Amino acid sequence: MPGALVLSLDLELHWGVRDHVTLDAPYAANLRGARDAIPAMLDTFAAYEAACTWATVGMLFARSRAELEAMHPARRPRYADARLDPYGEPVGDDEARDPMHFAPSLVARIAGTPRQEIATHTYSHYYCLEPGQDEAAFAADLDAAVASAALHGVHLRSIVYPRNQRNAAYDRLLRAAGIVAYRGQPRGWVHTPRGGGATTLPVRALRLAEAYAPAGPSYLVRWDEVAQPSGLCDVRASFFVRPVREGTAMHAIERARACLGCGARSCARRASGGSCTCGGTRTTSACGPKRTSRCCERCSTRSPSAASDTGWSRCRWPRWPTGRWRHTSRERVVDR
Ligand SMILES: [Zn+2]
Repeated sequence: MPGALVLSLDLELHWGVRDHVTLDAPYAANLRGARDAIPAMLDTFAAYEAACTWATVGMLFARSRAELEAMHPARRPRYADARLDPYGEPVGDDEARDPMHFAPSLVARIAGTPRQEIATHTYSHYYCLEPGQDEAAFAADLDAAVASAALHGVHLRSIVYPRNQRNAAYDRLLRAAGIVAYRGQPRGWVHTPRGGGATTLPVRALRLAEAYAPAGPSYLVRWDEVAQPSGLCDVRASFFVRPVREGTAMHAIERARACLGCGARSCARRASGGSCTCGGTRTTSACGPKRTSRCCERCSTRSPSAASDTGWSRCRWPRWPTGRWRHTSRERVVDR
């Protein structure tokens, strides 16, 4: 069976960070930048025929404050940490006056771009593992998410949990709502879903360290691991790409990380030098402007004996022992 590359993005604007970022904070510039970045990404996805899932906060669908308030569920979570409650958030009248809390134009643009799926990031950026929330409140939030999406012609099929707080006890609610897939966490203790209070600084540091020095083969997901006993599909996260400014050291690091991650050491070596010599014409990875998934495949040193039944290759880059599966080698199967 061929492999697959799954791209997913969270569309949340201020709703995703409102508990710790105010709109006059420096970080708010990044939120405003999303309004330029999203159309640019959609153009790129369309140009390269790339599919992507956009996990969207349900409140962003609203065209006006009146519509927003009409969609609010009657039953709401009573978080022990009152800062997490989104319902007291001041909002403007509509998207023109408050582009950080309304985004129907972005939703419409995504929906109008081929191969783009709009998923839910819950209605209110709901925290499924926080003290004070309960099943009834989640059910109401889910109903509101489904209804707000349906009002705009969107049928929800998948979910990304805010802050990855998956609560397995709610699986049956998802199935009943027509949700078939969720974005799960990578394997390992450090990625175990936990409430905000338990996501301590050491846990965050370990997650960051693992992102830049991946320690094992755990990121590649086998097809037979996707379907869960609950009836849902766990589309596990494997490679978080951070937004970086082009030309900075972090940009070079992120690009090299992507190349090394896919086992294309030749591409990685050329990353600073410009074009690839093997004739690629499309860009589907961060390898560089003239590098392609097919290009990565041709560039990489590949052991014939390591080829698997599913078509994946094993990484032969010396730092990783032969036999370990590398995660973004999936890049090379995109064109198959
Ligand atoms: Zn979020």
